[in-house]
Formats: sequence, structure tokens, C-alpha cells
Amino acid sequence: MTIHLSALKQLKAETAEKKVILVAVSKTKSTDQVMEVYQNGQKVFGENYVQELVEKQAQLPADIQWHFIGHLQTNKVKFIAPFISVIQTVDSINLLKEINKQGIKCGRVISCLLQIFIAEEETKFGLSQMEAKEILESDLVAEFKNIAIIGFMGMATNTHNHEQVKKEFEELAAFYREMKKKQTQFSLLSMGMTSDYKLAMNAGSNMIRIGSAIFGDR
Ligand SMILES: *Cc1c(COP(=O)(O)O)cnc(C)c1O
Repeated sequence: MTIHLSALKQLKAETAEKKVILVAVSKTKSTDQVMEVYQNGQKVFGENYVQELVEKQAQLPADIQWHFIGHLQTNKVKFIAPFISVIQTVDSINLLKEINKQGIKCGRVISCLLQIFIAEEETKFGLSQMEAKEILESDLVAEFKNIAIIGFMGMATNTHNHEQVKKEFEELAAFYREMKKKQTQFSLLSMGMTSDYKLAMNAGSNMIRIGSAIFGDR
């Protein structure tokens, strides 16, 4: 198993030029493959499963920034709290409460993104804009000192219809800009994967999450 080195180099150049952060999504891929990408200068990786992430983190270099991008259950937060760089998939106050609690235990302020639902599919997790706004304005959340909500993450509909994907990304980007006016700590808008990252970047994404273009099909 080898990685797609030329694609990685091109993605690194493309994102560097536009000041977009590249997250290499390594779910289901071996530590050897992650190491190969790391040795080519990539330090930010995304994982979807807690156990897999915990095992890889223990074996791989300590300066890797791990982003959690899968659905996170509250009872598993404790396993990643000591080292996670950003939890991108926060979709409830309850989860924030647990992340805060674990943050206190390890003496860390844990960066989080709210996952916003933008796709047409029924299956994707995430908050509506109204629910996200409620969380951002909640007095309870304001008391959580060991979390920092620093932006949004979204996934567009899995379709070849570019107009629709573009529209979904633009909607989320507009919402991000509106919320950023008051949320001065906002800095990340994570949208775009292998199939749609160009549309996402054009719409204003500053963080793309790329798996198969770098590691090959899963
Ligand atoms: C798997 C995954 C990605 C990467 O998908 P590719 O199409 O392989 O680039 C990005 N974001 C999330 C949330 C994922 O689960």
C-alpha cells in the first residue's frame, strides 16, 4: 500500500497558496501509510473512530495534530481528550458538557467545531443553523471554560450536481461569516472532501478534509 504522493504535493501547494488548512483523513489506513504522509510534511490528520485514533496516536509522532471527524459518543470523549487538537463534529450541548468536563480533568481547553447539517440526505449528522445559534448564545455553554468553539464543519450532499453542492457550501459560509461577527474566537470553516474540495474552497472554506485523493480508496 502506497500513498498518492503527487496528489498530496499538489494539494499541499494548492492549500498553501490559498491559506487553507489540509487535513489528511487517515481512517482505516495503516500507521505506515500515515507515517509516509507525515514524512512528506503533513502534520494534520483526521480520524473517525475513537479506538483507531487512540491506537494510532500512541504509535505515531507526538507533533501530529489529530482532528476528530466522526460521530462522537459522550462516553468516548475521555479517551481522546488528553491529546485531541480539534473535535470537528460537535452536535449537542450534552457533548460539549462532556468535552468540557474531560477538558477540566486534563487541564486543557479543547477546540471544537459545531457540525452543521447542510446536505439533503437524511443520514448526515449535524445541527440546523437555529440549533447552532442557540448553542452559541447559550448561558450554560458560556460557563464551559475548557472548550472553545472555533467554527463550523459541514458535509455537502453526495451528488454530481455541482450547483447544489456549491449552494450548500455557500449557505454555510454565509452563516459562518454572520456568526463570526460576534464569535470573535471563530477561525475555522471546515468543508470540502476529495470530490468537492474545489467548490468548498471557492465558497470560502479554510479547512479541507481529504482522504481518498491522498491515501487511495477505502
Ligand atoms: C472520510 C471523511 C472525509 C474524507 O473523505 P474523502 O472523500 O476520502 O476525501 C472527510 N470528512 C469526513 C467527515 C469523513 O468522514
